[in-house]
Amino acid sequence: MPSKKEELLAQIDRAVKTCHGCRLWRTATHAVPGEGSFKAPIMFVGEGPGYHEDKLGRPFVGRAGSLLDRLLLRNEISREEVFITNVVKHRPPDNRAPMKDEARACLPFLIQQIKVINPKIIVTLGRSALEVFLKDKPIGEMHGQGFKLGNRVIFPLYHPAAALRSPAVLQILERDFRNLPKIMRGEILPKEIEIKSKDINQMKLI
Ligand code: SF4
Repeated sequence: MPSKKEELLAQIDRAVKTCHGCRLWRTATHAVPGEGSFKAPIMFVGEGPGYHEDKLGRPFVGRAGSLLDRLLLRNEISREEVFITNVVKHRPPDNRAPMKDEARACLPFLIQQIKVINPKIIVTLGRSALEVFLKDKPIGEMHGQGFKLGNRVIFPLYHPAAALRSPAVLQILERDFRNLPKIMRGEILPKEIEIKSKDINQMKLI
């Protein structure tokens, strides 16, 4: 019998699949609500589904997903320990970044997923996901470090797709990723961070 949390996640999935909250559903093939363990201590939040994700309705299944899988394996983090989703649940055309109004429209789903799963660590992949949690913070300064936000740790990383385009970014991503198990084990303590623009949605995330 599914647990209460599994039922709630299934409800969110159904709501995503019938959502017309922004323009993105019109050009997408499938909604991609996210997948993983309902009791995951780590949640990965990417930008939005790409070509392969849109075709299959699953997150991170293309080349960027393979890289993420390799990084998880190399750092001995099992799939059972993670939940993977995106800022927007339908694919932006031509893999462009989500627009602000699209990210805002989709945010309630991410907030609900966080509330249900209650992860200790949220790994943001790329600039769009970082912007949702830590506004106006450049990824170039934040990547690879943990930041305390309420009861959670936000751990910003470069997006695996960016790493596939640049060997230098790949090297940084591989190095940064090695900090994730250390943060999980409490060997690296998260930094305190001042949130200047506390908006209502941001506060709902923590
Ligand atoms: S991207 Fe999000 S807000 Fe936009 S239609 Fe899809 S589920 Fe709804």
